[in-house]
Parts: sequence; structure tokens; C-alpha cells
Amino acid sequence: MDSSFAERLVAWQKKYGRNNLPWQKSHDPYVRWLAEIMLQQTQVKTVIPYFDRFIERFPTVQDLAEATEEEVMKLWAGLGYYSRARNLHKCAKEVQCRFNGSFPIELSDLESLPGIGVSTAAAIRSAATDEPCAILDGNVKRVLARHGMIGKGLTPRETENLLWADARSKTPLKEGRTYAQAVMDLGATVCTRTKPLCALCPVNQDCKAFQTDSQLEFPVKKVRAPVPEEILNLAVYTDGNEVYLLRKSERYWKGLWTLPQLRDEEAEQSEEVLPAIEHRLTHLLLRIYPVRLPIPAKIPAAWKAFTKEQIKTEALPTPIRKLLLEVL
Ligand code: SF4
Repeated sequence: MDSSFAERLVAWQKKYGRNNLPWQKSHDPYVRWLAEIMLQQTQVKTVIPYFDRFIERFPTVQDLAEATEEEVMKLWAGLGYYSRARNLHKCAKEVQCRFNGSFPIELSDLESLPGIGVSTAAAIRSAATDEPCAILDGNVKRVLARHGMIGKGLTPRETENLLWADARSKTPLKEGRTYAQAVMDLGATVCTRTKPLCALCPVNQDCKAFQTDSQLEFPVKKVRAPVPEEILNLAVYTDGNEVYLLRKSERYWKGLWTLPQLRDEEAEQSEEVLPAIEHRLTHLLLRIYPVRLPIPAKIPAAWKAFTKEQIKTEALPTPIRKLLLEVL
């Protein structure tokens, strides 16, 4: 075990780390799970208002399990990566029926639940119990890859294995909660992606990337295939007061309210073309071409009318909400 790495990080965390985040007031695994899921690919300052609203509306896992999917999606809308919200709801239901509403803290139980991977399970357990558990989220990977210059000339699988071995060897035998928070805080606030603040880093004296001025070469980037694109011709059927939306039931934005889609020839006939939008999802680039149209005489059963006020609070994808708030 590399105790000196851990000791320096723990001491640094106590002095400079983030110790007043809303979820840190609790060691309840439900609370810590909720925060961990929300924090995936999302910054702390974005998560805080969502977390506060969720905890207020769903103070226990039972409350979340008993909510409708629509209500969960509505509270989540704007936070992105919507499969997390669906898995969150699914997970709460499983905890309710498989664990009798008591959120588990054993790693194997946690990893068996939807949306909880190995690192998230470890983060929940260490936060809930203070037991040391190796974690390896995106921030931690960056710290360890730079500190040990891990990844050059290796396959992604080999790199991942080495990083896990390194994460385990650096995890101390005590103060698991503070160490896990420390290594995540260091990645989020000091060892940042593009401008690491190495002069402020508690482990800079043995960081290999710092010593060789090669911080930005780590983590080694995967060669990415070009992102596929999809064209969406969307219809804003409105009389100026209300707009018709339908609930998406497949692929991206599943469960959210969005605009009806038009065929190319229908879109071309429209007279009022609205500004085009480019929106990037994780694995897809959407090119959205909206047009304004009058409300048709016959309204399909799946459509629902929304006012501008409802658009502000209902579960809509962010670019669609933004578009409608501008055009209504
Ligand atoms: Fe990251 Fe710099 Fe610290 Fe190395 S010295 S771990 S590159 S912040």
C-alpha cells in the first residue's frame, strides 16, 4: 500500500476538499447513491439543485420507488443522460422489492442493481460505511494515469486493469470515506482535464507526468470513431398559446415530451422555418430543423397540448424546451 500518497491526499482533503456538499450531511446509502448517479458525467454545481429537489420530493427510496416514471423524468429533465433517470427509478423499485426498502451496502448487492457499476458501488459503500474501497471514476482515472504515467502504448483494457491495480494499492486501510472524497476532489478541482493546477497538488513531488511536463498526454485518448448524425425535422404545431407534444417511447429522449416529427417533403412545404439547432448526445449528433405550423384540424390521440408555463416545468429535452420558450 502506498500510504504516503493516501496520507497526503487525506490531509489535503480535510483542508482544501469539498466538505459541505448537501449529500455529505448524510451517510445514508440511499442519499449517497442518488448523489453518485447524478454526479456521473455532471458537475457538482449543476447537480446540487436537482439533488435538493429529488431529496425533498423523495426523502426515502420507497418514495422514489412508488413515484411514476413521468414524475421522475420531470424532476430529472435538464440533467441529461436520461438512461440514468430510468435506471434510478428501476433501481429504487428493485431495492424496494429485493431488499425490502433497505438500501444495501454490500458491494455485490450494490453491483447487482441497475445503473450501479463497480466504481459507483465502491463510492457508495465507502461514503456510507467509511470502509476503504478502491474507486475509479473519470476524475480518479485522470489523477492516477498522470501520477503514474499509465496508459502509453497499452490497449484500453490493459490500461483499465493497471489503473484498477494502482487504485487498489493506493487505497489506505482507514479513513475510506475521506480518501475516496479526496481523490475525487483532486481530480475535479486540481488535476483538471485541460489546466491542472500542479503547483497546488499534494502529490506533485512524485507525479511522473508533472515531472516530465506531460500532464496533458494522460489519460491517453482513445481513438474515437466519428459521431453519427441524425436529421430531425420537427413541427411546432401552435396557435401562439399552446404547442402540441408527444411522449418519446424509444431510443434517445425516451419518456420525455418532444415535438412531432415531419417527413422531409412535409418540412419543405412549410412556410415558417425556425432557426436550426445542433445538439450533441453521447453517441449521436442531432441536427434539428424546426418549422412552425398551424394546429391541424385532426389531432392524433398521442399528442398533448402544453402552455408556455407547462413547458418550463414538464419533462422536455433541454434543446426543445429552449426552442419553445423562444418561439411561444
Ligand atoms: Fe495531476 Fe499535476 Fe497533481 Fe500530477 S501533479 S496528479 S498532473 S495535478
